[in-house]
Amino acid sequence: MRTKIVAGNWKMNKTSAEAKALTSEVISLHGAEVKSPTKVILCVPFPFLQQSKEQTANTPVAVGAQNCSEHESGAYTGEVSAAMLKSLGIPYVILGHSERRQYFQESGAQLARKVDRALAHQLIPIFCCGEPLEIREQGTHEALVRKQVAEGLFHLAPEAISGIIIAYEPVWAIGTGKTATTQQAQDMHAVIRKELAGKYGNVVSEKIPILYGGSVKPDNARELFSCPDVDGGLVGGASLKARDFVDIIKGA
Ligand code: PEP
Repeated sequence: MRTKIVAGNWKMNKTSAEAKALTSEVISLHGAEVKSPTKVILCVPFPFLQQSKEQTANTPVAVGAQNCSEHESGAYTGEVSAAMLKSLGIPYVILGHSERRQYFQESGAQLARKVDRALAHQLIPIFCCGEPLEIREQGTHEALVRKQVAEGLFHLAPEAISGIIIAYEPVWAIGTGKTATTQQAQDMHAVIRKELAGKYGNVVSEKIPILYGGSVKPDNARELFSCPDVDGGLVGGASLKARDFVDIIKGA
């Protein structure tokens, strides 16, 4: 039985004061209303990591980053390393979000290196995959997602891949208000799990949480999260409102 996980991806939103207020609202609503063991992660922008980390100390809410460098350290102006995140006590990092793949040309090989850096510093990657609309329309979406998963993760040993989280996020559903149907989500999650089983066996594959992302809202979360292979969600827009985010957590 996999524990459900709900992670919020704040993307490039909020000021320091707004981030502080949102973190504290999530903590207090969560504390008052959520009794389930669902893991909750707030993936906040880099400048707010320390602040959110301090605010969430001794609460069940964890903090994650949205990216890290594939390099260990050195002359990479503007980059943030896995070691830096680790030194702040940050346990999670989103890698390979479709916005990074699309706007920053992050390749499969580069993502494999980022995964290695993250794991070398005991960070848990939330590894994103998902197809753009034209690929879904061509009917090659399963092949593309299988390729993304293989390129980013299949160099890992079974013990290493057992510790990661995968997020399936169809690009056509991100920030569009268009959600995958439960059938579309379950079908792709089953494809990913089968691919993991083919490479690593059923025991490893059954351990790995696969989250769904793409316009998850309070009114569709429960149904999506009830699919057998959907282990929770990666939530963008709706994670910017504490009320909606906590209602989504309750859906898990
Ligand atoms: C995301 O960016 O990871 C995401 C799922 O966004 P949204 O929930 O806004 O579609």
